[in-house]
Amino acid sequence: MRIPFTELLRAAYGARSHASYLLVSIETDQGLVGYGEHDGLFHETAEAFIHSELKPLLIGEDPLQIEFLTHKTEHFLLWNTFAAYPLAAIDMALYDIKGKALGVPIYEVLGGLYREKMDTTGLIHLHVVEEDVASAVRCVERGHKVIKVKVGFDLEKDMERLTAIRDAVGPAIPFRIDPNMAWSPRTAVRWIRRMEKLNLQWVEQPVPSWDIEGLVEVARAVDTPLSADESCMTVRDAWRLAEARAVEAFNVYLTEAGGITRAREIVAIANAAGIACVIGTWGEGGVGQAAVLHMVASSRNFEHASDTAYGLTADDYITEPFRFDENARLTVPRKSGLGVEPSPAKVDHYAHIEGEDRVFAQGPGERFIPRSRMIL
Ligand SMILES: [Mg+2]
Repeated sequence: MRIPFTELLRAAYGARSHASYLLVSIETDQGLVGYGEHDGLFHETAEAFIHSELKPLLIGEDPLQIEFLTHKTEHFLLWNTFAAYPLAAIDMALYDIKGKALGVPIYEVLGGLYREKMDTTGLIHLHVVEEDVASAVRCVERGHKVIKVKVGFDLEKDMERLTAIRDAVGPAIPFRIDPNMAWSPRTAVRWIRRMEKLNLQWVEQPVPSWDIEGLVEVARAVDTPLSADESCMTVRDAWRLAEARAVEAFNVYLTEAGGITRAREIVAIANAAGIACVIGTWGEGGVGQAAVLHMVASSRNFEHASDTAYGLTADDYITEPFRFDENARLTVPRKSGLGVEPSPAKVDHYAHIEGEDRVFAQGPGERFIPRSRMIL
């Protein structure tokens, strides 16, 4: 399915005009149906991969044995990182079945209810000063308590945008900035030092994902905490980052981790290391967003606002879309399983929307310029 964003979503790595998902369903011989969502990229490939490689590993198995099925599938796929995204969709569907079979919401299968609501960041990503200022003011009006600004294009312009947004929203709302790996370590130090007078809560992934030593260098040189996003995909990434003492927060994705099962292990490593966790987003639809909410609801860690692109999509394909409360929070569903149901009419409608899922340099039709580890 493809659902348009209300605004072009720009980051240093490229821009996206719509969210896209592959809805995955697993049926049991007792008539239960579990839903999962494949987010991100390569949906057609993932669909073929699920049918040819994952389905044969799952047919005839007990869907309640999620730990066993996680190890079985990962083992047969030799821990191929591409497989994490399809596996995440399968994992969500298995939890949906388990919740429905037991008659409880998924958060009860996990740690039980720790919090009912997920705080969300207001996302600023338009890269035009006046538009970003207006967008930030709207975010504050909607109740967001933290604003996250995508940076990493033109540094003087980033400073200009951040300063204008700070002037418009006042001194109290913390900013997170996210250059999405655009900077070299020394460039990151130079620019974070300039930006940190603007009340930065933390900086997301300033340097490329593979450069943990670079991340450590930046962390030692600036006052602002760092978070690991692109460098924190798997459980083993989390372990190495915790060992390196490079960051004070992890951006956790169910997709990149391989589902709720593995994402919770990342959270466990973070708990042990005293690292905060927030959710990162690929632009989840209703099923993916529900899975995120069950994990956040059942984990102590996640005390800070998480990302969601839910407010940026024009619609959702589930029968009862989520609504933000007056403090820009999303509430975990209370029905059994994931607690959401796809609307067949909407799924059919959005399955026929054409669109380019690849990211663009800055916007459709513009030339691709790789932005990674730049010296500026
Ligand atoms: Mg990020």
